[in-house]
Amino acid sequence: MSRLFQHLPSVDPILTALTDDSTLAALPRPLLRELVNEFLDIKREEIRSGVVSEPEELAFERLLPAVMAMVRVKARPHFRRVLNATGVVIHTNMGRSLLAPEAVQAVVEACARYSNLEFDLATGERGSRYSHVEELLCTITGAEAAVVVNNNAAAVMLMLDTLAKGREVIVSRGQLVEIGGSFRIPDVMAKSGATLREVGATNRTHVRDYEQAIGDNTAALMRVHTSNFRMVGFTGEVDLPRMRELGDRYGLPVLEDLGSGTLFPLERAGMPSEPTVQEVVRQGADIVSFSGDKVLGGPQAGIIVGREEWISRIKVNPMNRALRIDKMTLAALEATLRLYLDMDSARTAVPTLRMITAEYRQLRSRAATLRRTLDRAVGEQVETSVRRGASRVGGGAFPERDLETALVAVVPKNISVDELRQRLLATDPPLVGRIEDNAFCLDPRTLASDEYRLVAEALNQALRQ
Ligand SMILES: *Cc1c(COP(=O)(O)O)cnc(C)c1O
Repeated sequence: MSRLFQHLPSVDPILTALTDDSTLAALPRPLLRELVNEFLDIKREEIRSGVVSEPEELAFERLLPAVMAMVRVKARPHFRRVLNATGVVIHTNMGRSLLAPEAVQAVVEACARYSNLEFDLATGERGSRYSHVEELLCTITGAEAAVVVNNNAAAVMLMLDTLAKGREVIVSRGQLVEIGGSFRIPDVMAKSGATLREVGATNRTHVRDYEQAIGDNTAALMRVHTSNFRMVGFTGEVDLPRMRELGDRYGLPVLEDLGSGTLFPLERAGMPSEPTVQEVVRQGADIVSFSGDKVLGGPQAGIIVGREEWISRIKVNPMNRALRIDKMTLAALEATLRLYLDMDSARTAVPTLRMITAEYRQLRSRAATLRRTLDRAVGEQVETSVRRGASRVGGGAFPERDLETALVAVVPKNISVDELRQRLLATDPPLVGRIEDNAFCLDPRTLASDEYRLVAEALNQALRQ
């Protein structure tokens, strides 16, 4: 065994071979050295445990490909691109919304150059970072004022802290939802220092339920979009116009956590109708909060629009400073919002909207193209077909509603479907799809056409192993 140790190549020749390889040459040398040492440690362990027993197994030429493979895997960034073939458009685990090229460009400018982030070019004095998007948001939504923070969870927390700290906010039991990632309305409210006053029953809440709960300590009435769940059957909630009326009668502000918050009227694309932010503002909500990276299709952000008297108080809340939006987000948000100045072109210019509203006919022809690409690349090793299926919007928007799509079903001939799925997580880039009826299914809805080649390459890598 000790003789075997002598056959292990030393660090330096391996290091030289690695730096001679054009794909690895740019990696920091200290990192390469560390990884080579790690590799040799593994080999030493294999010698000790008898996994390696012949000197030939330790030959330089035999080891080099293995070192290279390990270095490639370990040296690449941890946070990486993936190919999303799941058909879930706003996939929370895969980065939610993709930015439009205009927004990407704005981010690049904002972070590579100095900017007027908080500098008023009219006066040469200090300016407000919110000014870059406030007017746009007011133009698009019809609200009097706007402010933006890090995400919608922060927006909800901030509006409650500003308006209702130490006082009560009345919410229907049917809207006390958990959104996922442990965002629960009752918990957020407790953290904000407001007291939750639950009213109604799980399935039904009436105006009189709210009315009976109103007292000296009531700060606001609040509605929460139920987002990722839907109630059916004997249900009922108080709609916004009636809530507004109640608020007016008792002099209370009406708050609305709209969750996804679309600016585009989706029924125009033949989708089920969801109230737009514009409608909610028009119907008299005092403050509306929603996410920047759900259906809106921008960067992660929490957007708060509403009446000037409340928004101005939110702006000066010290908590706002802790939740503030950063400049790259702001740049992406402004660029995305500008696309909404023309609603008709927004549908195709905002990637999230384009993917959500893609039509079956179009998806069917894309599935056929994807299938041909795959057949050409790996046709010998798999059976492919195109079948009808369902995509999801995701991100808690349109719960339980399927979008009709065409899937490319891939059945490998030599390995199991599950093994294929597992191997595709390790390709570069990884490919994520879903297994349905014993086939690995790819949904073209969430794949760009310039990604088909990468999908084929990933399958090729996975099947070659
Ligand atoms: C998604 C959602 C949130 C949280 O928004 P983030 O932008 O993820 O912080 C809050 N409330 C509702 C109703 C939601 O759907």
